[in-house]
Amino acid sequence: MQHYTYVIIGGGIAGTTAAETIRKHDPKGSIAIVSDESHPLYSRVLLSKPKWVLGEQPFDNVWLKKDEWYEENNIHLFKGLRAMKLSAAKKTVELSDGDVLKYEKLLLATGTHKRMWDVKGADKKGIHYLRTVDDAKGINEVAQGKPKRVVMVGSACVSFEIIEILVAKGFHVTEVMREKYFFEPQLGAEEVAPIEQTLIDSGVEIIRESEIEEVLGGASVEGVRLKDGREIACEVILPLIGVVLPVEWVQKAGVATHKGIYANQYLETNVPDIWTAGDTTESWDSVLEETVIMGNWMSARLQGQVAGKNMTGAREAFEQVSFHTSHGFGYQIGWTGDVRPLPGREIIQYPTKEEKSSCRLIVVDGRVVGGTTVNRPDLMSAITKIIKEKIEVGSALEEIRKGTVDLKAIANTKRI
Ligand SMILES: Cc1cc2nc3c(=O)[nH]c(=O)nc-3n(C[C@H](O)[C@H](O)[C@H](O)COP(=O)(O)OP(=O)(O)OC[C@H]3O[C@@H](n4cnc5c(N)ncnc54)[C@H](O)[C@@H]3O)c2cc1C
Repeated sequence: MQHYTYVIIGGGIAGTTAAETIRKHDPKGSIAIVSDESHPLYSRVLLSKPKWVLGEQPFDNVWLKKDEWYEENNIHLFKGLRAMKLSAAKKTVELSDGDVLKYEKLLLATGTHKRMWDVKGADKKGIHYLRTVDDAKGINEVAQGKPKRVVMVGSACVSFEIIEILVAKGFHVTEVMREKYFFEPQLGAEEVAPIEQTLIDSGVEIIRESEIEEVLGGASVEGVRLKDGREIACEVILPLIGVVLPVEWVQKAGVATHKGIYANQYLETNVPDIWTAGDTTESWDSVLEETVIMGNWMSARLQGQVAGKNMTGAREAFEQVSFHTSHGFGYQIGWTGDVRPLPGREIIQYPTKEEKSSCRLIVVDGRVVGGTTVNRPDLMSAITKIIKEKIEVGSALEEIRKGTVDLKAIANTKRI
């Protein structure tokens, strides 16, 4: 059994930032990171960005830390090993090679794993996922090769970004989605309509509210059959169908979970000396007054910082309005706060004059809790401020709808 002051499970941006922060505040404590991937920290964000995917940027741009960084900072990185079993009573974590680590303080920064596509024939050659840098090599090879026919499964940001790359390279893309439209429900149908029209004008075929029943072909993909019997010929399938949060093993040890691992605003779990950070964390958000999973790079990094600091004895609250963006086909799309159009929430369309632009606000009891923008990135910080500062807008919803009040002025003056 090896003993460490700090054990961090997950070597992504949240876990690595936590280790870096701990080292700043505690130069002597021993630190171990356990990663089920075989690499030092890399930019997951870059894996769907055009220049890198197409090889116009060096592959090595993906690495954010080198092996030497871990050595220089006296951080032991256990690569290619999964944490399997937690004993909160003994303060131990058992790894997939049977080794046991004893911790004084533990961080769960386990992010997400890719959701595997569970259809008949999903093991054929020509099917590529995109979650890790190893997965990305498959998609990069496809994108840098001769144009082919591709079926894309999944309609969120990463699919959108990869479709743009493939279309630019002359691939024929058929998008098969369960949803009615791209980004549902994180954007409204009316906001997405012009975006989808651009895709259609670029030759992308969109098949909505549909599912694939079987992958056709021999050893390699030759096509797909939909549940309604239609067949689509293709050589490549990209099932980018979301993620799973790997929380069962900590749940068994008594760590409270829901979709993610529950934490308070200090990123403490219900178990003493165990913190959590990043995509796997469902933490109390004092701005939105609910538990939220952030699911983006910047929040994971900031949570890593806060958790790392708190593990060394501070007690800082994590307070950030989540935001992220996606780019493709000439659109810049932004999400801030909680954008789910849940029952009881009002959806306010704020008029924008610019072509192919839109902005919508999600309002609960006179307070904005979320907002989305299309081709109006300048509004993102105003909306974020309105959310963060809990500015009361209930009396001005009609003016906001008509566009007779300026969101930026509301954010700056805190008045309607
Ligand atoms: C292709 C792609 C593009 C993206 N683009 C953007 C973007 O443009 N903007 C944006 O904000 N976000 C983007 N994201 C999301 C962003 O990458 C994540 O929000 C961020 O990586 C979360 O960091 P994390 O450290 O919490 O989790 P992760 O990056 O998931 O890291 C957690 C690590 O822990 C490992 N792990 C899990 N369980 C165990 C275990 N039991 N033992 C050991 N290791 C374990 C996981 O395999 C993983 O390596 C993108 C994601 C992808 C896949």
